[in-house]
Amino acid sequence: MYPKVEVNIKGINENISKIKDLCNKNNINLNVVVKVLAGNIDIVKNLDFNNIDSIADSRISNLKKYKSIKKEKWLIRIPSFSEIEDVIKYSDVSLNSSLETIELLNKEAIKQKKKHKIILMYELGDLREGVDYSMLSMLVNEIKRLSNVELYGIGANLTCYGGAAPTKENTQELYEVTKALEVENDISIPVISGANSSSFKLLENGTLKDKMNYVRFGESVFLGTIPGYDEEVDFLNHDNFIIKAQISELETKDSVPRGEILKNSFGVVPELEDAGLRTRAIINIGKQDVGLNIKPVDKDLVVLEGSSDYLIVDLTHAKKEYKLGDIIEFTPDYETLLKVMTSEYVRKEIK
Ligand SMILES: *Cc1c(COP(=O)(O)O)cnc(C)c1O
Repeated sequence: MYPKVEVNIKGINENISKIKDLCNKNNINLNVVVKVLAGNIDIVKNLDFNNIDSIADSRISNLKKYKSIKKEKWLIRIPSFSEIEDVIKYSDVSLNSSLETIELLNKEAIKQKKKHKIILMYELGDLREGVDYSMLSMLVNEIKRLSNVELYGIGANLTCYGGAAPTKENTQELYEVTKALEVENDISIPVISGANSSSFKLLENGTLKDKMNYVRFGESVFLGTIPGYDEEVDFLNHDNFIIKAQISELETKDSVPRGEILKNSFGVVPELEDAGLRTRAIINIGKQDVGLNIKPVDKDLVVLEGSSDYLIVDLTHAKKEYKLGDIIEFTPDYETLLKVMTSEYVRKEIK
């Protein structure tokens, strides 16, 4: 059945192992962020977490499915009030930024007779989650009086909302903030976790060493790429996921539509150039399953557009002869990988 996505477990595990080696050289722990797998336990249980001490996901419903994975589990999306019970039940650590939520977590942890670890998020300039120093200091102080939550670490997130780049300077800032909180409160804070895959270069060139002890990596593990820079890491595998869809119409058509032109199904009036007659395939995967940034493995093909259920692919310059029923292969970017893993219309095949 098509469409499907083929998952090369060996390739992913090689990436985990290589990134882990790099982390070891820098005295840093690798937390593998598996959120892009959208709760797929069949894949997760095949990943080699032998030398990994923790995994992370953004959805508590995914962590719930990973109960059999005996690793420390981090919820890396700030918990909302409606999921407090599950957060305590299915995660060991959560990222937080407000006292009300932390108090609810404490109350629930008492109820479930559990301890829960808190990583407080510091706003380092990207303007997604996190608070400033004075707020952080207040939270550290308040957590001391709560019996069943413990301050585990200070975290930050970059290159997500604002595109703020990870640098030597903001790495140092997060480190200094953590040290200042330790001195101010006469405590030691075990974890500094300030990096996602966009910090890969800083890991490679030693900038993160002695400044943080945890990185949270997803994209570099699964796709071998560095977000923010649109770069591939040359020693990692990039083709761990291959999307395959089937040609269900193959015709030669004009390149410009006929008659009066209205908005298309996505609310824009298409401006198409007349490139003469084109050989075009429509294939059985659409915007409900993938983004348009997917790359055909056959470099002679071009993805023209898509609607919910189809992609339109231009085959005019293909050297290979395609016919109705043939399969076209693609590699995903991170956004498409998330969509394709989430779409129940795409079969997942583990290799
Ligand atoms: C998604 C996410 C990560 C992992 O990001 P990658 O770019 O995939 O490495 C890390 N931390 C948080 C808070 C996230 O939401």
